[in-house]
Amino acid sequence: MRIARHPNEITLDSTQTIGFVPTMGSLHEGHMALIAESVRECDQTAVSIFVNPKQFGPKEDYANYPRDEERDLRMCESAGVDVVFVPTVETIYPYNNISISIGGVSQLWDGKSRPGHFDGVATIVAILFNIVKPNIAYFGLKDFQQCAVIDRLVHGLHLGIALRFVETVREPDGLAKSSRNAYLTPQERIIAPLLYRTLHSVKAKLLDGVASVPESDVIIEEARQSLVESGFDVDYIALVDEKLLEPVSVLKGSARLIVAAKIGSTRLIDNIGILL
Ligand code: AMP
Repeated sequence: MRIARHPNEITLDSTQTIGFVPTMGSLHEGHMALIAESVRECDQTAVSIFVNPKQFGPKEDYANYPRDEERDLRMCESAGVDVVFVPTVETIYPYNNISISIGGVSQLWDGKSRPGHFDGVATIVAILFNIVKPNIAYFGLKDFQQCAVIDRLVHGLHLGIALRFVETVREPDGLAKSSRNAYLTPQERIIAPLLYRTLHSVKAKLLDGVASVPESDVIIEEARQSLVESGFDVDYIALVDEKLLEPVSVLKGSARLIVAAKIGSTRLIDNIGILL
Protein backbone atom coordinates (compact mmCIF):
# COMPACT_ATOMS: atom_id res chain seq x y z
CA MET A 1 0.00 0.00 0.00
CA ARG A 2 1.28 3.44 -0.89
CA ILE A 3 0.78 6.62 1.12
CA ALA A 4 0.44 9.76 -1.00
CA ARG A 5 0.74 13.13 0.69
CA HIS A 6 0.68 15.03 -2.58
CA PRO A 7 -1.55 14.56 -5.66
CA ASN A 8 1.40 13.62 -7.89
CA GLU A 9 2.23 10.69 -5.58
CA ILE A 10 -1.07 8.91 -6.22
CA THR A 11 -0.08 7.32 -9.58
CA LEU A 12 -2.98 4.95 -10.22
CA ASP A 13 -3.32 3.01 -13.49
CA SER A 14 -6.07 4.72 -15.48
CA THR A 15 -6.49 1.69 -17.75
CA GLN A 16 -7.89 -0.25 -14.76
CA THR A 17 -10.96 0.66 -12.69
CA ILE A 18 -10.33 3.01 -9.79
CA GLY A 19 -12.63 2.91 -6.75
CA PHE A 20 -12.49 5.82 -4.31
CA VAL A 21 -13.62 6.19 -0.69
CA PRO A 22 -13.30 9.73 0.71
CA THR A 23 -13.15 9.85 4.53
CA MET A 24 -12.19 12.12 7.39
CA GLY A 25 -10.29 9.26 9.04
CA SER A 26 -10.81 7.83 12.51
CA LEU A 27 -11.94 4.79 10.56
CA HIS A 28 -14.54 2.35 11.84
CA GLU A 29 -16.56 -0.55 10.42
CA GLY A 30 -18.81 1.87 8.50
CA HIS A 31 -15.85 3.17 6.51
CA MET A 32 -14.50 -0.36 6.16
CA ALA A 33 -17.78 -1.51 4.55
CA LEU A 34 -17.32 1.15 1.84
CA ILE A 35 -13.68 0.17 1.37
CA ALA A 36 -14.56 -3.55 1.18
CA GLU A 37 -17.15 -2.80 -1.50
CA SER A 38 -14.58 -0.86 -3.55
CA VAL A 39 -11.90 -3.55 -3.16
CA ARG A 40 -14.45 -6.16 -4.25
CA GLU A 41 -15.69 -4.20 -7.26
CA CYS A 42 -12.66 -2.30 -8.56
CA ASP A 43 -9.14 -3.18 -9.73
CA GLN A 44 -7.63 -0.45 -7.54
CA THR A 45 -8.90 1.30 -4.42
CA ALA A 46 -7.92 4.75 -3.20
CA VAL A 47 -8.95 6.09 0.22
CA SER A 48 -8.51 9.70 1.27
CA ILE A 49 -8.11 10.79 4.86
CA PHE A 50 -8.68 14.51 5.21
CA VAL A 51 -10.49 16.39 7.97
CA ASN A 52 -12.00 19.07 5.78
CA PRO A 53 -12.07 22.46 7.53
CA LYS A 54 -14.54 23.88 4.98
CA GLN A 55 -17.38 21.61 6.12
CA PHE A 56 -17.17 22.59 9.79
CA GLY A 57 -18.95 25.65 11.15
CA PRO A 58 -17.01 28.14 13.32
CA LYS A 59 -18.50 26.67 16.51
CA GLU A 60 -18.12 23.04 15.43
CA ASP A 61 -15.57 20.37 16.35
CA TYR A 62 -12.87 20.78 13.64
CA ALA A 63 -10.02 21.15 16.15
CA ASN A 64 -11.21 18.26 18.33
CA TYR A 65 -12.30 15.91 15.57
CA PRO A 66 -10.76 12.48 16.39
CA ARG A 67 -7.60 11.77 14.40
CA ASP A 68 -5.49 8.58 14.41
CA GLU A 69 -3.53 8.33 11.18
CA GLU A 70 -1.36 5.36 12.13
CA ARG A 71 -4.32 3.19 13.04
CA ASP A 72 -6.23 4.31 9.92
CA LEU A 73 -3.29 3.36 7.69
CA ARG A 74 -3.03 -0.09 9.30
CA MET A 75 -6.76 -0.65 8.72
CA CYS A 76 -6.49 0.41 5.07
CA GLU A 77 -3.48 -1.84 4.53
CA SER A 78 -5.22 -4.92 5.90
CA ALA A 79 -8.35 -4.15 3.81
CA GLY A 80 -6.34 -4.28 0.58
CA VAL A 81 -6.31 -0.55 -0.25
CA ASP A 82 -3.79 0.40 -2.95
CA VAL A 83 -3.20 4.02 -2.06
CA VAL A 84 -4.17 6.30 0.82
CA PHE A 85 -4.17 10.00 0.07
CA VAL A 86 -3.37 12.05 3.18
CA PRO A 87 -2.96 15.66 2.06
CA THR A 88 -2.47 18.83 4.09
CA VAL A 89 -5.00 21.67 4.11
CA GLU A 90 -2.51 23.85 2.20
CA THR A 91 -2.15 21.24 -0.56
CA ILE A 92 -5.90 20.85 -1.00
CA TYR A 93 -6.79 24.54 -0.85
CA PRO A 94 -4.18 26.67 -2.63
CA TYR A 95 -6.92 29.31 -2.88
CA ASN A 96 -9.00 29.61 0.23
CA ASN A 97 -12.01 31.23 -1.39
CA ILE A 98 -12.96 28.53 -3.86
CA SER A 99 -16.36 26.96 -3.29
CA ILE A 100 -18.89 24.77 -5.07
CA SER A 101 -22.48 25.34 -4.10
CA ILE A 102 -25.27 22.89 -4.85
CA GLY A 103 -28.61 24.63 -4.50
CA GLY A 104 -31.85 23.06 -3.39
CA VAL A 105 -31.02 19.89 -1.56
CA SER A 106 -28.05 21.54 0.26
CA GLN A 107 -30.29 24.16 1.84
CA LEU A 108 -32.65 21.84 3.73
CA TRP A 109 -32.31 20.04 7.11
CA ASP A 110 -28.61 19.79 7.99
CA GLY A 111 -28.00 22.56 5.47
CA LYS A 112 -30.19 24.85 7.57
CA SER A 113 -28.67 23.83 10.89
CA ARG A 114 -25.12 23.84 9.58
CA PRO A 115 -24.89 26.77 7.11
CA GLY A 116 -22.18 26.20 4.50
CA HIS A 117 -21.67 22.57 5.50
CA PHE A 118 -22.75 21.03 2.20
CA ASP A 119 -20.88 23.63 0.15
CA GLY A 120 -17.81 22.48 2.07
CA VAL A 121 -18.65 18.85 1.32
CA ALA A 122 -19.34 19.49 -2.39
CA THR A 123 -16.10 21.48 -2.72
CA ILE A 124 -13.83 18.87 -1.11
CA VAL A 125 -15.45 15.98 -2.96
CA ALA A 126 -15.10 17.79 -6.31
CA ILE A 127 -11.43 18.54 -5.56
CA LEU A 128 -10.73 14.95 -4.48
CA PHE A 129 -12.52 13.58 -7.55
CA ASN A 130 -10.31 15.76 -9.76
CA ILE A 131 -7.18 14.52 -8.01
CA VAL A 132 -8.02 10.80 -7.77
CA LYS A 133 -10.05 10.57 -11.01
CA PRO A 134 -12.07 7.54 -9.89
CA ASN A 135 -14.47 5.50 -11.99
CA ILE A 136 -16.62 4.65 -8.98
CA ALA A 137 -16.96 6.47 -5.64
CA TYR A 138 -18.47 5.09 -2.44
CA PHE A 139 -20.52 6.94 0.17
CA GLY A 140 -22.47 5.84 3.24
CA LEU A 141 -26.25 6.10 3.47
CA LYS A 142 -25.82 7.11 7.12
CA ASP A 143 -25.21 10.59 5.70
CA PHE A 144 -28.32 10.45 3.54
CA GLN A 145 -28.48 14.13 2.67
CA GLN A 146 -24.79 14.07 1.78
CA CYS A 147 -25.55 11.27 -0.70
CA ALA A 148 -28.22 13.47 -2.31
CA VAL A 149 -25.77 16.40 -2.53
CA ILE A 150 -23.03 14.23 -4.10
CA ASP A 151 -25.54 12.79 -6.55
CA ARG A 152 -26.38 16.35 -7.67
CA LEU A 153 -22.70 17.29 -7.81
CA VAL A 154 -21.82 14.35 -10.07
CA HIS A 155 -24.81 14.70 -12.37
CA GLY A 156 -24.98 18.50 -12.30
CA LEU A 157 -21.33 18.87 -13.30
CA HIS A 158 -21.41 15.82 -15.62
CA LEU A 159 -18.45 14.31 -13.82
CA GLY A 160 -19.03 10.84 -15.27
CA ILE A 161 -18.30 9.03 -12.00
CA ALA A 162 -20.51 6.14 -10.90
CA LEU A 163 -21.78 6.38 -7.33
CA ARG A 164 -22.45 3.61 -4.85
CA PHE A 165 -24.38 4.32 -1.68
CA VAL A 166 -23.66 1.72 1.00
CA GLU A 167 -26.05 0.65 3.77
CA THR A 168 -25.38 2.02 7.27
CA VAL A 169 -23.25 -0.15 9.55
CA ARG A 170 -24.57 -0.21 13.11
CA GLU A 171 -23.52 -1.23 16.59
CA PRO A 172 -25.34 -4.35 17.87
CA ASP A 173 -27.80 -2.08 19.70
CA GLY A 174 -28.65 -0.20 16.49
CA LEU A 175 -26.61 2.97 16.95
CA ALA A 176 -25.12 3.99 13.60
CA LYS A 177 -21.33 3.77 13.73
CA SER A 178 -19.79 7.22 13.65
CA SER A 179 -16.44 8.76 14.52
CA ARG A 180 -18.40 11.22 16.67
CA ASN A 181 -19.75 8.40 18.90
CA ALA A 182 -16.38 8.69 20.67
CA TYR A 183 -17.64 11.98 22.18
CA LEU A 184 -20.54 10.28 24.01
CA THR A 185 -20.27 9.87 27.78
CA PRO A 186 -21.16 6.37 29.10
CA GLN A 187 -24.57 7.71 30.15
CA GLU A 188 -25.20 9.30 26.72
CA ARG A 189 -24.06 6.12 24.99
CA ILE A 190 -26.87 4.24 26.77
CA ILE A 191 -29.49 6.68 25.45
CA ALA A 192 -28.05 7.06 21.92
CA PRO A 193 -29.57 3.85 20.39
CA LEU A 194 -33.05 5.28 21.07
CA LEU A 195 -32.57 7.38 17.95
CA TYR A 196 -32.61 4.35 15.65
CA ARG A 197 -35.20 2.54 17.76
CA THR A 198 -37.49 5.55 17.35
CA LEU A 199 -37.01 5.55 13.56
CA HIS A 200 -37.90 1.87 13.57
CA SER A 201 -41.05 2.32 15.60
CA VAL A 202 -42.23 5.26 13.46
CA LYS A 203 -41.63 3.16 10.35
CA ALA A 204 -43.66 0.28 11.80
CA LYS A 205 -46.53 2.64 12.65
CA LEU A 206 -46.45 4.28 9.22
CA LEU A 207 -46.51 0.91 7.50
CA ASP A 208 -49.29 -0.27 9.76
CA GLY A 209 -51.87 0.91 7.29
CA VAL A 210 -51.65 4.56 8.27
CA ALA A 211 -51.33 6.11 4.85
CA SER A 212 -52.80 9.54 5.48
CA VAL A 213 -50.52 12.49 5.97
CA PRO A 214 -52.19 14.15 8.97
CA GLU A 215 -51.86 10.88 10.86
CA SER A 216 -48.24 10.44 9.87
CA ASP A 217 -47.58 13.97 11.13
CA VAL A 218 -49.04 12.96 14.49
CA ILE A 219 -46.92 9.80 14.63
CA ILE A 220 -43.78 11.77 13.86
CA GLU A 221 -44.62 14.50 16.37
CA GLU A 222 -45.14 11.86 19.08
CA ALA A 223 -41.75 10.39 18.21
CA ARG A 224 -40.16 13.83 18.49
CA GLN A 225 -41.74 14.30 21.92
CA SER A 226 -40.54 10.92 23.16
CA LEU A 227 -36.99 11.68 22.02
CA VAL A 228 -37.13 15.00 23.89
CA GLU A 229 -38.38 13.21 27.00
CA SER A 230 -35.46 10.77 26.72
CA GLY A 231 -33.02 13.69 26.79
CA PHE A 232 -32.44 14.46 23.10
CA ASP A 233 -32.36 18.00 21.77
CA VAL A 234 -34.15 17.25 18.48
CA ASP A 235 -33.15 19.36 15.50
CA TYR A 236 -35.55 17.65 13.09
CA ILE A 237 -37.37 14.40 12.47
CA ALA A 238 -39.17 14.27 9.15
CA LEU A 239 -40.49 12.07 6.39
CA VAL A 240 -38.97 13.21 3.11
CA ASP A 241 -38.80 12.48 -0.57
CA GLU A 242 -35.75 10.27 -1.34
CA LYS A 243 -34.39 12.47 -4.13
CA LEU A 244 -35.31 16.08 -3.31
CA LEU A 245 -35.50 15.65 0.47
CA GLU A 246 -38.63 17.80 0.55
CA PRO A 247 -41.22 16.78 3.16
CA VAL A 248 -43.60 14.31 1.53
CA SER A 249 -47.21 15.34 1.38
CA VAL A 250 -48.60 12.06 0.09
CA LEU A 251 -47.39 8.72 1.37
CA LYS A 252 -46.72 6.61 -1.71
CA GLY A 253 -43.75 4.82 -3.20
CA SER A 254 -40.59 5.20 -1.17
CA ALA A 255 -39.65 7.86 1.34
CA ARG A 256 -36.96 8.43 3.95
CA LEU A 257 -37.41 9.15 7.61
CA ILE A 258 -34.52 11.38 8.68
CA VAL A 259 -33.50 12.61 12.11
CA ALA A 260 -30.86 14.84 13.71
CA ALA A 261 -30.63 15.28 17.46
CA LYS A 262 -28.09 16.25 20.06
CA ILE A 263 -27.31 14.32 23.21
CA GLY A 264 -25.32 16.66 25.40
CA SER A 265 -22.93 18.34 22.99
CA THR A 266 -22.85 15.50 20.45
CA ARG A 267 -24.98 15.85 17.35
CA LEU A 268 -26.13 12.52 15.86
CA ILE A 269 -27.91 11.88 12.57
CA ASP A 270 -29.66 8.79 11.29
CA ASN A 271 -32.28 7.74 8.74
CA ILE A 272 -34.33 4.79 7.60
CA GLY A 273 -35.91 3.91 4.27
CA ILE A 274 -39.66 3.44 4.07
CA LEU A 275 -41.09 1.54 1.16
CA LEU A 276 -44.80 2.18 1.17
P1 AMP B 1 -16.67 10.52 7.36
O1 AMP B 1 -15.29 10.05 7.66
O2 AMP B 1 -17.55 10.62 8.55
O3 AMP B 1 -16.69 11.75 6.47
O4 AMP B 1 -17.34 9.38 6.49
C1 AMP B 1 -16.74 8.93 5.30
C2 AMP B 1 -17.74 8.06 4.56
O5 AMP B 1 -18.09 6.94 5.39
C3 AMP B 1 -19.04 8.81 4.25
O6 AMP B 1 -19.48 8.43 2.94
C4 AMP B 1 -19.98 8.31 5.30
O7 AMP B 1 -21.33 8.34 4.93
C5 AMP B 1 -19.50 6.86 5.47
N1 AMP B 1 -19.93 6.33 6.77
C6 AMP B 1 -19.78 6.91 7.99
N2 AMP B 1 -20.36 6.16 8.95
C7 AMP B 1 -20.92 5.09 8.31
C8 AMP B 1 -21.67 3.96 8.75
N3 AMP B 1 -21.97 3.77 10.02
N4 AMP B 1 -22.07 3.06 7.81
C9 AMP B 1 -21.76 3.24 6.49
N5 AMP B 1 -21.05 4.29 6.02
C10 AMP B 1 -20.64 5.20 6.91
